[in-house]
Amino acid sequence: MHKHHSALGLAKAQSTVLPTVGGGIDIARRNPVDPVTLIRPHAAARAARFFAEKFPGRSMYAVKANPSPDLLQVLWDNGITHYDVASIAEVRLVARTLPDATLCFMHPVKAEEAVAEAYFTHGVRVFSLDSIEELDKVMRATRNASDLTLCVRLRVSSEYSKLSLASKFGVAPGESKELLFAARQAADALGICFHVGSQAMTPDAYAQAMERVRAAIVEAAVTVDVIDVGGGFPSSYPGMEPPPLERFFETIHRAFESLPISYSAELWAEPGRALCAEYSSVVVRVERRRGNELYINDGAYGALFDAAHIGWRFPVTLLREPESTVRDHPFSFYGPTCDDMDHMAGPFLLPADVQVGDYIEIGMLGAYGAAMRTAFNGFGSEETVIVDDEPMVSLYTDLTGHAGVASNVVKL
Ligand SMILES: *Cc1c(COP(=O)(O)O)cnc(C)c1O
Repeated sequence: MHKHHSALGLAKAQSTVLPTVGGGIDIARRNPVDPVTLIRPHAAARAARFFAEKFPGRSMYAVKANPSPDLLQVLWDNGITHYDVASIAEVRLVARTLPDATLCFMHPVKAEEAVAEAYFTHGVRVFSLDSIEELDKVMRATRNASDLTLCVRLRVSSEYSKLSLASKFGVAPGESKELLFAARQAADALGICFHVGSQAMTPDAYAQAMERVRAAIVEAAVTVDVIDVGGGFPSSYPGMEPPPLERFFETIHRAFESLPISYSAELWAEPGRALCAEYSSVVVRVERRRGNELYINDGAYGALFDAAHIGWRFPVTLLREPESTVRDHPFSFYGPTCDDMDHMAGPFLLPADVQVGDYIEIGMLGAYGAAMRTAFNGFGSEETVIVDDEPMVSLYTDLTGHAGVASNVVKL
C-alpha cells in the first residue's frame, strides 16, 4: 500500500492505493462506506498505444482531462511523449512527473509570469495564442526568444460536438490574417490549432475545421509548419456511441495531406477524453431510495460533475450477489451534499429492485470525473483501488474497430 499526492498538489487529502483486485464486485464485498475510485492502468495503456500507433501524427495528452501522476506515467510508458498543459501548475506537475516529456502550453490566455517560468525554468517552447496582445505577451515573457513554436488558435464550429468550445477562444474567421502574419515573423515554427469541442460525434467536425484552416492559410499566405487538430476525440457513453476512431484519423489525415503546407509540416492532436475516459470508474453506495430516485454517496461535487451540470450519462452496473434478475428501470441520482443541484438526471438503467445498501459501479469516469472532485460539505473520498477487469465500455477492445458496447448501455 502506498500513498500519493493529489495531482496538482492542491489542498486535498492523500489517496490510498490498495492492491489490485478483480473488479467492482470485489470492492462491494468489502462494504466501503465512502465512494471508491477504481483505476484501470491497462485501459489507459491500450488507449495510449492506439493513439501512438494509429494517429497519423503526434498525439499529445491534454492534461486537464485527468492530471493524475499515475496516469501520466502510464501514458508515457505507452508512447505518449508530448503533453498539452494549460496552467503553470500543470506545467510543474508534468515537468516533475515526467522530466523528459515535451510540454506545450496550449491555453491561449496565459499569465506573463507563467509563460516566463514555463520558458526559462521548464524548457517549454510551444505556446498557443489567439490575439496580438497574447503574442506580445509571449514575446515579452520569453525576451523575444527565437526558438518558439507559436500556434495560432482558430475559432471553429462545435456543431458536431456534445460540449462546445467555440465561444471562448480562437480568432474568428476573417480576422486571422494579421495575427498569422505577425506570429510568422516572431516564430521559429508557425502552427495553426483549433478545438472542435469535446466528444465530437463525427469525423466531419475535423473535416470542416480543416477547411477553415485552409482558408486562413490561403488568406494570410504564410508558411505553416504545424497543424494541430486539438482534442475532441470521443469515447463511448450511453446514447453516445461514436464511429471508430480510425475513421476520425483517416478523415484528418486526408484533410492534412490536401492543405497548402510544406512537405515537412507536422500533424499534431491533443486528445484528452479519449486517452483517459476508460481509466477509472467509481463504486458508490445507495443510501436511500425514493421511488425512482437513488441517493448515492458521490455526486456533482465529486466525480459526477458532468452528470449533474451537463446531463452526461454514464454506464452503470449494480454490484450485487447474487446478481439481480429483475429487468432494468430508469433511475436518477442525488449526490450526498445538501445542495439541490447535486442531482444527476440520467436516466441510469439499473435493475428495478435496487435498494438501500446496494453498490453501483459508475463507469467511464476517467475523463473530467476524478479531475473535478471537491470536498464540499465534507463528502468525497480519495480511496483508490487498481483493478484489472475490463472497463464497462471500450473503444479499444474490438479489433474490428467498432466500439465494444456493454449490454447495459441501452439507447433510450
Ligand atoms: C480540453 C482541451 C483538450 C482536450 O479535449 P478532449 O475533448 O478531452 O479531447 C485539448 N486541447 C485543448 C486546447 C483543450 O482545451
